[in-house]
Amino acid sequence: MRVYFVGAGPGDPELLTVKAQRLLKSARCCIWAGSLVNPTLLELLPEGAEVHDSAGMDLAQIMAVIRDAAHNDTDVIRLHTGDPTIYGAIGEQMDELDRLGIDYEIIPGVSSFQAAAAAICAELTAPEISQTVILSRVAGRTPVPAGQELAKLAESRSTLCLFLSVSQIKTIAETLERFYGADCPARVVYRASWPDQKVIAGTLADIAGKVTAEAIDRTAMIIVGHALARPFAKASKLYDRSFTHGYRRGQTQ
Ligand code: SAH
Repeated sequence: MRVYFVGAGPGDPELLTVKAQRLLKSARCCIWAGSLVNPTLLELLPEGAEVHDSAGMDLAQIMAVIRDAAHNDTDVIRLHTGDPTIYGAIGEQMDELDRLGIDYEIIPGVSSFQAAAAAICAELTAPEISQTVILSRVAGRTPVPAGQELAKLAESRSTLCLFLSVSQIKTIAETLERFYGADCPARVVYRASWPDQKVIAGTLADIAGKVTAEAIDRTAMIIVGHALARPFAKASKLYDRSFTHGYRRGQTQ
């Protein structure tokens, strides 16, 4: 018996991995995060599979389902939105499984930051502008550890992808303006890859007003950075005619 922490992807069922699809098709017990996972994915489950929505469950209740399944030697699919390793709260579940001696495995998923970057046709890592992507959030009910405040992260002027933060877009934009400048591109993608996806494009100066006007206050990804500016200021060396690398010899003329 094993628990599979499966990434459900950002919403579009076609962004599920082949492995996740295979596991869902043969699952006899599935605990899914009903608040964010697309319910159409449950249609992949075989008839008669046991389904639990973790949205209304606490850790002890989730563990009770898993312990029952272990008792019957039934695998459990623990379906998490996006990729389970990012804000998935799987750490405490794995601790419990370790304590109980129950085996587990993580199946990665397409994260919402990736779906949002795709929706805005961005390359997050633009040569000589940003070679770093920061995945973070601002403090809400969960605090952010000292040294990881937005103003600290912003010093590097890397591309920023902010989860769980859109309700604070106004103060975020104000903070970031000091480091990236008011004209820096800022995007907010609401429900990336879902049929009702919305893309709000602006700069740090006007993004907050646009997001408020659309009444977006949840399930959105904030992406900020000069890498989003188009056309690209610098092309990458990879396809530069004169650049030699392991697979190609550069031409001098
Ligand atoms: N593990 C998930 C993140 C869970 S935290 C992942 O890898 O994507 C929940 C936050 O993720 C939301 O507040 C929002 O910021 C973001 N999110 C989840 N699904 C999203 C989607 N389809 N579009 C935009 N943001 C999304």
